Amino acid sequence: MLAVKNLTKTYKSGNRALTVLDDISFEINRGDTFAIVGPSGSGKTTLLGLCAGLDRATSGSVVLNNILLDRLNEDERAFVRNQHVGFIFQNFQLIPTLTALENVMVPLELRGERNIKERSLKLLERVGLGDRKHHYPAQLSGGEQQRVSLARAFSNEPKILFADEPTGNLDEETSEKVVKLIFDLNREAGTTLVMVTHDMDLAGKTQRIIRIKGGKLISDNILAPTGGN
Ligand code: ATP
Repeated sequence: MLAVKNLTKTYKSGNRALTVLDDISFEINRGDTFAIVGPSGSGKTTLLGLCAGLDRATSGSVVLNNILLDRLNEDERAFVRNQHVGFIFQNFQLIPTLTALENVMVPLELRGERNIKERSLKLLERVGLGDRKHHYPAQLSGGEQQRVSLARAFSNEPKILFADEPTGNLDEETSEKVVKLIFDLNREAGTTLVMVTHDMDLAGKTQRIIRIKGGKLISDNILAPTGGN
């Protein structure tokens, strides 16, 4: 489902080069749940972005659902993301000028799908927010915004969900609700889940944890059996 090979990312700053990921390799099977942990600044978000095709590696390769991302330009990567990927962020990244329902509709509109409103409303109801459909993000709590962003992430029926610190801005009780929804939706849809988190309790709910430090992969622990291809 996701194969990362000898991945390196270097940022240029003036005439200096900063290597933030150094020779990272791993593979994830379809339907698996996977956490990336490590200290602040270790390269976790950068790694997630490369895996999701948000950015391009300096060297090495990422194969997502049999598609080699490295040679694709930004438009082609955006197309792959819309077809295959869901994403949730610590700061939700909802579009402030759109209602909850309209935010969920965006990925389906980009794909030119049918019955967009009905399908989006169903998802909003699934995350318990049917009665908030006309609310704008500023009128929703953090936990509600993250549930809208989850509905949006699942609206295009992604093969893989990337989550970057999905509970980072939420209190403990709200986090628990959002985490349960992430894992429930993931199971129902058979989605592969790749999550960056500081929260070791949350990481421990996945099947496998890799630890990154200073841009290097320093450990890879399988906690529960992982699936096929
Ligand atoms: P945190 O847990 O604090 O979010 P992280 O492990 O996710 O950190 P990254 O956000 O991947 O770390 O950043 C890794 C390193 O890359 C950091 O030192 C950061 O300053 C640097 N970095 C990230 N993006 C850029 C960029 N666009 N240009 C230059 N340096 C960058």
